[in-house]
Amino acid sequence: MDLSAIGNDVERIIVTEEDLQAKIKELAARIDSDYADQDLLLVGVLKGAVMAMADLARALQRHVEMDWMAVSSYGSGTKSSGVVRILKDLDRDITGREVLIVEDIVDSGLTLSWLKSNLESRGAKRVQILAVLRKPDAAKVEVPVEYVGFEIPSDFVVGYGLDFNEKYRNLPFVGVLAKHIYS
Ligand code: IMP
Ligand code: MG
Repeated sequence: MDLSAIGNDVERIIVTEEDLQAKIKELAARIDSDYADQDLLLVGVLKGAVMAMADLARALQRHVEMDWMAVSSYGSGTKSSGVVRILKDLDRDITGREVLIVEDIVDSGLTLSWLKSNLESRGAKRVQILAVLRKPDAAKVEVPVEYVGFEIPSDFVVGYGLDFNEKYRNLPFVGVLAKHIYS
């Protein structure tokens, strides 16, 4: 879906489709080299990470397994609650595995920090994190993110997997949602 399909719902584009695609390829090359000769399990966080996972997995020049978790921390609003619930768990045991969590965005960091400890507690060999976007101003919790796509301001953004009330995920770019949509 292009900008022309959504009128003035997006106030401004902050990461273009070209920049996203180039960044994912760059991160994939780093991961290829960092995880050379090791097995790798990508864990995508539904639903926001679907686009990043699909692009990342195809850019990697190696075998990877993909699994998915769905957690809820936001409800339908625009503020993080810090309360994390598992809506869909992994299909497989991850004991001894190299796990890379693939996330759309780190805002407060509450979701990722919870998810990382949760996966570590299951006996993963190591759990690292890739986030396409990071909002540094909002960091309530120190969570180490090994692979970051773009540092962005604290505005509420949509696109490339990120939604507002389940819409806008299928925009190929990331843009700031216009205030009139949610106020
Ligand atoms: P955190 O727990 O505050 O880091 O937020 C985690 C989740 O909130 C992300 O995985 C997103 O699904 C959602 N989220 C945070 N910021 C935004 C945003 O700007 N737009 C859409 N979703 C967001
Ligand atoms: Mg969301």
